[in-house]
Amino acid sequence: MLSPMLSLGDYPVLGSLLFLAIGVVMGSFGTVLVSRLPQGRTILGRSQCPRCGKTLGPAELVPLLSFAVQGGRCRSCESRIPWLYPIVEAFSALLFLLAFLRQGMWVLPGLALGVVLWLFLLVTIMDAQTGFISDYLSFPFLVLSVVYALFFPPLPIIAPLIGAGFFAAQWAGSRGKWVGSGDIIIGAGMGFLLRDWRLLVIALFLAYIIGALTALVLILFKKKTIKDRLAFVPFLFVATLITLIAGYDILDFYIF
Ligand SMILES: [Zn+2]
Repeated sequence: MLSPMLSLGDYPVLGSLLFLAIGVVMGSFGTVLVSRLPQGRTILGRSQCPRCGKTLGPAELVPLLSFAVQGGRCRSCESRIPWLYPIVEAFSALLFLLAFLRQGMWVLPGLALGVVLWLFLLVTIMDAQTGFISDYLSFPFLVLSVVYALFFPPLPIIAPLIGAGFFAAQWAGSRGKWVGSGDIIIGAGMGFLLRDWRLLVIALFLAYIIGALTALVLILFKKKTIKDRLAFVPFLFVATLITLIAGYDILDFYIF
């Protein structure tokens, strides 16, 4: 029986499958958000093929499965469905599984963490594709990270302040050229998500290392020049995932 706190600790397999399923469905919804929000389109209404405009039927809307069955092509016009769609669905499923396991199979904090990471993934995709962070994604990310933090009182103060302050300082120093105001919101959300300010510092540090290495590789292979802007949220996202999984191990290793 479920305890009042809703633990699935006695049903690890069932719980994992449940969270994977929720993650796939959320991932599917996420692809709708990241493909429509930048164009200012409504998120209501049925999905259509981006090429021929045909409204998709129920059988074409099953996450992952439709893609596999149709061989990655639209049923009417045969155009390729971008690989981004199944990848986002699968990755979102893994994020919800990670959240479930990381919260010791407690359902509610696991769900909250899953939604926060899902929103972080969507901001990452949007920043990488358009260089723009939608308030419709960043503010829910911040609010949900506060909701998640409320499961573990007291509410952290220092970590979100460092996260927001770090980007606010760069924003002010560069008059909005290096970072956008969206980064400040993401920084604050990361603070609530990681709670411990030392973990936040590790995440920022990792993001810069991974970002610098990526930039170096891109410049070496002449995909980018030194003047190009590189979306930064993807590095924040990857660094936050690493910190969530191994933050305290890194901290023990370097003791600071
Ligand atoms: Zn089509």
